[in-house]
Amino acid sequence: MRLIRVVLCVVMMLSGWQVVAQAQSAESQSNDAQAAQAKDSGKAAYSLPPEKLERAIAYSRQRTVLGFVDTGWGIVVLLLLLTTGAAAWMRRVAVGLSANRWVQGFTFFLLFLTITTALGLPLDMYGHHLSVAYGQSVQHWGSWFGDIAKSFGLSFFFGGLLVMLLFLVIRKSPTRWWFWFWIPAMVIVVVGTFVYPIFIDPLFNKFEPLVQSNATLVGQLEQVVARGGIEIPPERMFLMKASEKVTGLNAYVTGIGASKRVVVWDTSIAKATPQEIQFIFGHEMGHYVLNHIYKGMAFTGVLLLALFWLGYRGMQGLLARYGEAWGIAGQDTWSAFVVLMLVVSVASFFAEPITSGYQRQQEHAADVYGQEAIHGIVQDPQAVAQQAFQVLGEQSLTDPNPNAFVEFWTFSHPSIGRRAEFAKHYNPWVAGGKPEYFQK
Ligand SMILES: [Zn+2]
Repeated sequence: MRLIRVVLCVVMMLSGWQVVAQAQSAESQSNDAQAAQAKDSGKAAYSLPPEKLERAIAYSRQRTVLGFVDTGWGIVVLLLLLTTGAAAWMRRVAVGLSANRWVQGFTFFLLFLTITTALGLPLDMYGHHLSVAYGQSVQHWGSWFGDIAKSFGLSFFFGGLLVMLLFLVIRKSPTRWWFWFWIPAMVIVVVGTFVYPIFIDPLFNKFEPLVQSNATLVGQLEQVVARGGIEIPPERMFLMKASEKVTGLNAYVTGIGASKRVVVWDTSIAKATPQEIQFIFGHEMGHYVLNHIYKGMAFTGVLLLALFWLGYRGMQGLLARYGEAWGIAGQDTWSAFVVLMLVVSVASFFAEPITSGYQRQQEHAADVYGQEAIHGIVQDPQAVAQQAFQVLGEQSLTDPNPNAFVEFWTFSHPSIGRRAEFAKHYNPWVAGGKPEYFQK
């Protein structure tokens, strides 16, 4: 599911955070943090050998802590910008430079983006160091910094435009801007989802038609497509050279309309069997067939509207109380952007369980679909699916015992253990059973 990434990009651009388009997509990043609930050790559907288990637990703990620290630090940075007067200073610099609003807006945003990126860099670097240390990434620092620089450039350009638009709407409609800004924001989400795989993804990874190097696999995947009764022509299947940066395996569906496509990482092809890839592909096809991208967009729409309204109310409240101390005259001054980002960041953090819960439910549906999609094509769908989760978990060093709170708050997928356990027991073809998404 790439949609949430697109949405995050919009929100991050709005908030001025860089779009760190790391090689890992949302799908596998979450797998990183995922873990199994192997209560009955030895009999668990997903388990790790002792030495791997130890590393997986250590890695997952550090990742979890880093995730929460990163969010907290982002909020602290915004608070610091406000309380030290840095936000007011950035506005003075921008306004002092030119009377032209475009120059002012982009200057203010450049300062904001530079300072927040610089202050967030040590944690980002530590995150990359962890990935390398635990064998999850093979990307060297030069390439990693290159990605950061590209993200920064993209954020500056698109984020700057959004900031200009935001302040235009705030000036035109001081009390209803949260609604009027929501409309173009939704257009951007839709357009962004369409263009992302065409223009943004290739900036960070290499893609080629899957059929070019894996004609046999394309044939095997077309078998699954045929069972789904839909059409995904081979031109819509891509291979991503993920192995240049990461070691984990993944596949995903992205884009809408004419840009809709399935992407398989080359690491999956190297490490999973054709049958396991058929299952992983079936799962992705589930997202495709069950219209998860469109549903996700609708969900995002509701969430964004709530977020903007909260942003409006929160900003009003904070400015009334601290505006003078922070040197911010009103919501239509450039520096008010930092206040808005503070409210949006805090609200986004508390909205995380809602987003994660929604995603987990979609991911589970895709798991069901995937397993049903390979029925009749592979001999034992249950075993194939379970083994696919085993490979996935082992490769991404997934802790089999995730903390229940962390799972509830942050996991975009059910834990690998839960997924493997479900796969092991899911058999709707026994007497009296009926598949959920297929006739037979
Ligand atoms: Zn999925």
